[in-house]
Amino acid sequence: MRPLCAILLLRISDDRSGEAAGVGRQDEDGRRLAERLGWTLGPDETHVIVENDTSAFKRRKIRLPDGTFALRTVRPGFRRGLDMLATGTADGLLAYDLDRAARDPRDLEDLIDVVESKHPRIPAESVTGSLRLANDADVTMARVMVAIANKSSRDTARRVTRKHEELATQGRPGGGGIRPFGYEKDGTTIQENEADVIKWMAREILDGGTLFGVAAQLNERGVRPVRAQQWNSRSVWSILTGPRIAGLRRFRGAVVGDATWPAILDRDTWDAVRAQISERGSGHNNQLTRWLTGTLWCSLCGHELTNASATKHVGPRYWCSTPRGGCGKIAITAIAVEDLMSERIVEYLSDPDAVVRLLEAISGGTADQTRTQLAEDEAQLKDLARMWATRRITLAEYTEARDIIEDRVRNARAFTLSSAPRVLRYLLEGDVQSRWDGLAPKDRRVVVQAILPNGFKVLPHPKDKPRRFDPDRLVPR
Ligand SMILES: [Zn+2]
Repeated sequence: MRPLCAILLLRISDDRSGEAAGVGRQDEDGRRLAERLGWTLGPDETHVIVENDTSAFKRRKIRLPDGTFALRTVRPGFRRGLDMLATGTADGLLAYDLDRAARDPRDLEDLIDVVESKHPRIPAESVTGSLRLANDADVTMARVMVAIANKSSRDTARRVTRKHEELATQGRPGGGGIRPFGYEKDGTTIQENEADVIKWMAREILDGGTLFGVAAQLNERGVRPVRAQQWNSRSVWSILTGPRIAGLRRFRGAVVGDATWPAILDRDTWDAVRAQISERGSGHNNQLTRWLTGTLWCSLCGHELTNASATKHVGPRYWCSTPRGGCGKIAITAIAVEDLMSERIVEYLSDPDAVVRLLEAISGGTADQTRTQLAEDEAQLKDLARMWATRRITLAEYTEARDIIEDRVRNARAFTLSSAPRVLRYLLEGDVQSRWDGLAPKDRRVVVQAILPNGFKVLPHPKDKPRRFDPDRLVPR
């Protein structure tokens, strides 16, 4: 029985080897074969099906009729053809070759089911002769060939994945996609202005700011994200929690190691920011920011002491937090140390000499001073590099000296960029004590860091003394 209303199935494939014929050629060859076999094709607009997918092997999660989800190669054209054959709208299938008709074994099994649903079987033919389902031997052969084709497709997919994995473990950018905020298009060069924005975002969050608040401020200042017009909580979240800005490479959701690109936030800061964000997200009450974070450091391991909430037995403390990478051995009562520091700061700001010095720094001189200092520091960095190159100092010495200078540069910049001048001016223009008392934790923090940029080391609690607050445990860094 020769089909009177056959389907011609043509596929556009992404085969770049040039072996697969173009659609025009497939069409021509298919019609010639139909003529030779004596088949009649159905009307062009319904029976010539051009599948416009670019890969014969891409699966997507689709919802099955029973409501469950499964990975399937999405092929609406092929499915429509099967329906037509099953319902009798078409009575034969012509394809260019088996590869094109069914690369996924599931597709082939569905095709076999349809073909065998009629007696005699629905005829299926292909130009290359690879698609034949006329008897059981043909069906077996078809299954083997599809399995092989399927495997080679999978291998290709796996090779591509492996390439990405390789790049990931080497810490190189994966390539493609849009420019990440904070970096140039190459994904590895820091875009300075945006890097400053990221540092500012991190500082805001650590100061108790919200994702929403950060987004609103950025929009207000006219800072633009890479692609969108406006910031929202989600985009702020994704930049701050992404490992890229800490110089870490992520692959499939897991951090796989140091990246080749430079970090914008150091690891500790990034960890603290993420901890802060997730803490707030999980509903912890984080209203009162402990304003001495960033000022107190562990004398044992050198880590920054961070806020530890009050428990049933002890009040709020600053401690060398193990979840944030510290040793966990140093803790100090928050209220007592804050009271002590408040007292000292007010005392300092009430000293006329200090006021003169600070006002000088605030009004005018800062920018020039910073510029002079930056120039000096840069010259010194060059000297150091030269000394190291000529082996007058060791790499360790060079690295250490460089870190100190770079730190100084950062501090100088941080002061001019921060709100310290504004807050200090406000404090000094009135009654220091009462203005200090009314200051928000966030602003207190700015003041303490401007006056005491190096902060204090906190010594272990002396074993022989009664367990109460001991100011001697604070040592300037
Ligand atoms: Zn520690």
